[in-house]
Amino acid sequence: MRRTYSLGFAMGETRARWREAFGRRSMSLPRRRWWIVGALALLLSAVEAGGFAQNFRFPVRHDHGLRSCRGELIITAAGIEYRTAHAKHARRWAFEDIRMVVLASRREIVLHTYEAHRWALGRDRTFRFTTLSEITAEVGAFLLARIQRPLAMGIIAVEGTPLHEIAARHRHRFGGCQGTIRIYADRLVYESRDRPEDSRAWRWSDIRRLGRFGPYRLEITTYEPEFGGPTRAYVFDLKVGLSEEVYDFVWERVYHLTPRWNEQR
Ligand SMILES: [Zn+2]
Ligand SMILES: [Zn+2]
Repeated sequence: MRRTYSLGFAMGETRARWREAFGRRSMSLPRRRWWIVGALALLLSAVEAGGFAQNFRFPVRHDHGLRSCRGELIITAAGIEYRTAHAKHARRWAFEDIRMVVLASRREIVLHTYEAHRWALGRDRTFRFTTLSEITAEVGAFLLARIQRPLAMGIIAVEGTPLHEIAARHRHRFGGCQGTIRIYADRLVYESRDRPEDSRAWRWSDIRRLGRFGPYRLEITTYEPEFGGPTRAYVFDLKVGLSEEVYDFVWERVYHLTPRWNEQR
């Protein structure tokens, strides 16, 4: 069966007919071979663009106390590099050299390194960068895929459907901020409404300890270093009580236990 197509067709109709024709008619062999070669080339270029050759560059300000220096932060599959004319602060870290990456917000990235601090004995050196352009969700996803060790992620990806959602208040030393806790199959997210820099997405392995003080208070201890303390704990007042079932779900994931009730589903 053969058909001819005139260019006069409406686009939608043309597309539908093409699909129909491809479905029915088998391609001649040489033509099919070319089609496969073309598809492979396309796939390879896509892999290259999305995988090996990927790097992200940001003009940044390196903040140190009252002063700062400027340069470029480059994130690649090999690690993170800070290029600057201020030679003393230029660095290149492999991911293993970084104790923790904190993507504090869309414009702030903090690297806690293993380098000892010159004047604060025993304290690891921290590099704080303010980016002059926004850090995209793509960078967040890239780091999540590269870094196995705990990561603090302030950029909240909206993919997936949360299993549970709880309105919460994040307690600060004075007052707090309002937001929502969302529990997904693979992560727990706190999205702050009035303090975006407090928003966090944690993979289960990014949570160190979990605590509950009655049904209305949840405490999440992370690996994030805190100034003046070893780790940063997030304490939440929950506006709706946390059910046993939901708490067990989170608990079992944080402590790597396979939940029995979930397997039966
Ligand atoms: Zn500097
Ligand atoms: Zn807060």
